[in-house]
Amino acid sequence: MKKILITGGAGFIGSNLCNKLVSDNFVYCLDNLYTSSIENISNLLNHPNFEFIQHDITEKIDLEVDEIYNLACPASPIHYQNESLNTLKSCVIGIYNILELAKKSNAKILQASTSEIYGDPLIHPQNESYWGNVNPLGDRSCYDEGKRCAETFMYEYYKNFNLKIRIARIFNTYGRNMQQNDGRVISNFIVQALKNEDITIYGTGNQTRSFCYIDDLTDGLIKLMNNPDDFIGPINLGNDSEYSILDIAKIILDKINTKSKIVFKELPNDDPKMRKPDITKAKLILNWEPKIDLNNGLDKTIEYFNSLLTMKV
Ligand code: UDP
Repeated sequence: MKKILITGGAGFIGSNLCNKLVSDNFVYCLDNLYTSSIENISNLLNHPNFEFIQHDITEKIDLEVDEIYNLACPASPIHYQNESLNTLKSCVIGIYNILELAKKSNAKILQASTSEIYGDPLIHPQNESYWGNVNPLGDRSCYDEGKRCAETFMYEYYKNFNLKIRIARIFNTYGRNMQQNDGRVISNFIVQALKNEDITIYGTGNQTRSFCYIDDLTDGLIKLMNNPDDFIGPINLGNDSEYSILDIAKIILDKINTKSKIVFKELPNDDPKMRKPDITKAKLILNWEPKIDLNNGLDKTIEYFNSLLTMKV
């Protein structure tokens, strides 16, 4: 049985990954619980193949493992900007600590990188050879530049120590185990509609994103990890169906019986105007593509938030 470390394991993507991997592997779930929640993994706490370790990756950690998924970092703009210095430290000092652990254990390591490394992209859709258009001194820089530096750290450990690495560039993802105060667009709109509150569109709503359902994303991460050793990435993982934010608001309003109305708020600084992954490489190399469309994924996500809100009343 493989020993797998998932940092950020109590977070949105991490907890879904823990659930998928725990039946056939021993899973160490490491998390500082800053933006994540113990409820996301409460079903696993008594599982014989599971151990939760409360720890911040900016501090060193010693464990013997075979594989590491490094997901530890706040990922929603409001959260990563609130704690901007800690975000940067989790990306840069965190990846250094985790790479040292991987080197010591001779473990394979997958880094959760992000579409944010492309910044406000000047090419569309974004493929992996695009170097990006990133502001190094802006509200998003702590995350964008932190994640870029983490990719470079990965590459240096591969070059210098022949470490087995994988770099996944994750595009917007949604689904079960997002926090209701996550702050990202799909969770905000669904929670607002369920509570009959205003639907807050930032800017005109003409900016676009492409949304991947969580189960597709975790499948892609596992396929990448298990791909033959010489493939390091980077590889885009996301859904390539593109929607404007205004469309997203309308689709969600159509699905929920609500008194909510759309209101327009100021657009945050450096908010990318468009984003859509080119997933040719993932299809070719990993034989992976998303299977769950937005309609289906939104229904599942609405059901999740509905039961979360009903439970908390
Ligand atoms: N957004 C919005 N209303 C919200 C939250 C987000 O209009 O309540 C917009 C945001 O400005 C961005 C897009 O939706 O253009 C996606 O935002 P999110 O925070 O989900 O992720 P991002 O792709 O910006 O990291």
